[in-house]
Amino acid sequence: MGSELIFRGHEAQPMADSYSPKPLKPWFYVARPIRYILREQRLVFVLVGIAIATVGFTFFPTSRTSHGNGYVSIPNTFVEHDLAHYSQRPLYQQGVGLKTWNSGGKIPLGLKRKGLRIVVTGGAGFVGSHLVDRLIERGDSVIVVDNFFTGRKENVMHHFGNPRFELIRHDVVEPLLLEVDQIYHLACPASPVHYKFNPVKTIKTNVVGTLNMLGLAKRVGARFLLTSTSEVYGDPLQHPQVETYWGNVNPIGVRSCYDEGKRTAETLTMDYHRGAGVEVRIARIFNTYGPRMCIDDGRVVSNFVAQALRKQPLTVYGDGKQTRSFQYVSDLVEGLIRLMEGEHVGPFNLGNPGEFTMLELAKVVQESIDPDAKIEYRPNTEDDPHKRKPDITKAKEQLGWEPKVSLRKGLPLMVKDFRQRIFGDHKEGGATTTI
Ligand code: NAD
Ligand code: UDP
Ligand code: UDP
Repeated sequence: MGSELIFRGHEAQPMADSYSPKPLKPWFYVARPIRYILREQRLVFVLVGIAIATVGFTFFPTSRTSHGNGYVSIPNTFVEHDLAHYSQRPLYQQGVGLKTWNSGGKIPLGLKRKGLRIVVTGGAGFVGSHLVDRLIERGDSVIVVDNFFTGRKENVMHHFGNPRFELIRHDVVEPLLLEVDQIYHLACPASPVHYKFNPVKTIKTNVVGTLNMLGLAKRVGARFLLTSTSEVYGDPLQHPQVETYWGNVNPIGVRSCYDEGKRTAETLTMDYHRGAGVEVRIARIFNTYGPRMCIDDGRVVSNFVAQALRKQPLTVYGDGKQTRSFQYVSDLVEGLIRLMEGEHVGPFNLGNPGEFTMLELAKVVQESIDPDAKIEYRPNTEDDPHKRKPDITKAKEQLGWEPKVSLRKGLPLMVKDFRQRIFGDHKEGGATTTI
């Protein structure tokens, strides 16, 4: 029995003078596959295969763009230079595989859209981190670029370890080389307290930072979305504000680093679009609130919520009759994605038209957290806009978008997040936007 397990290779060694055939001529190796195909009518199968492939490519031509809904189609309003520009893009930008394969406008059922490679500047901040969640959730690869001035690693920490997520500590004022399909450009402090802290840095971020990201978009042929602001309307003389209104902005005031910075960022964006053929989108965001806002960023909603939870008086600036319109963050993220994936450049107002005075807001906060919370009046800040309310007709018509979450529904979600962060209960952290 044991002998059967012994190696027997040596038994098959060739004998010294055994027969060896003559080497074959080279043409024999070339002709062998042809002879194989001719045998047993395999040629017929090859021809049938070629015919099927030809029919497929004739009737299902290659697509040019993809939509956020997972479908792929050629937009009928694509302007000519957009197409020309697009065709010059590298492969990762045009998309490969399923993303470029169009069957009458839609990817066949059961097949998934290929993910895009997307940069979110300011992605560790309040809005950016919620946007990143949505992009990762739908299957894209996301690179967050942030200098952590107002952003926090905690906002994106739940993606660490995901191979589709990258975090780069970088200041957008410095040039950056990356290869991507889309750029959501959010990097810029949004709270007046933060952007007034170092006004020169704020305007550099808006001007040089935006220039760099547009330069990047131009180099790689990426689509670029700028998050501008309702502040471009300044202290508006037209109410509600329509996108065609040019605004009433003080160019030399304490808010100018932000207001004029964003106005210049819009100008740069349009100049790269017209001059360099960069595909751009512009969103004018109105006051937004939700989980992950900086607790002490000085914005009115975060201030009131934190004050009510800490049993401190709510600080109302001025007479409290100035108005703002407050949008819940998930509505904004939906609007941003629709804008990026759609065909229109904008600018688009993205905001909730529900308008509140600061005293009315204080009342909603009292109802939601503490009916006994006191109100304390403080002097108002310089150049504070008296009223603000978006006209969102354009976004409704062209993006099919409108906000869904009222202040009374959204506020409790933010309160839950603030309660956990202020009182140290981290067990349920990583707040999401889910309603
Ligand atoms: P945020 O302060 O929470 O986030 C901004 C992010 O950008 C932070 O993570 C910050 O660290 C980062 N950042 C700032 N300067 C940078 C730089 N030079 N380089 C790299 N990263 C930098 O603010 P947010 O509320 O999330 O706002 C996001 C964007 O939306 C901003 O561009 C803001 O102007 C715009 N916006 C927001 C609102 C709002 O109500 N939240 C309203 C209008 C416009
Ligand atoms: N830029 C960048 N990344 C890129 C390409 C450009 O940061 O991938 C920067 C570049 O350093 C420049 C800016 O974007 O400061 C504008 O670039 P553009 O090519 O439009 O202008 P130019 O370099 O000719 O001034
Ligand atoms: N405000 C207030 N109490 C605060 C903080 C802000 O009454 O504790 C007012 C502020 O004067 C402004 C409005 O709330 O009229 C919105 O301010 P915020 O800083 O949130 O955003 P803005 O729209 O001014 O950028």
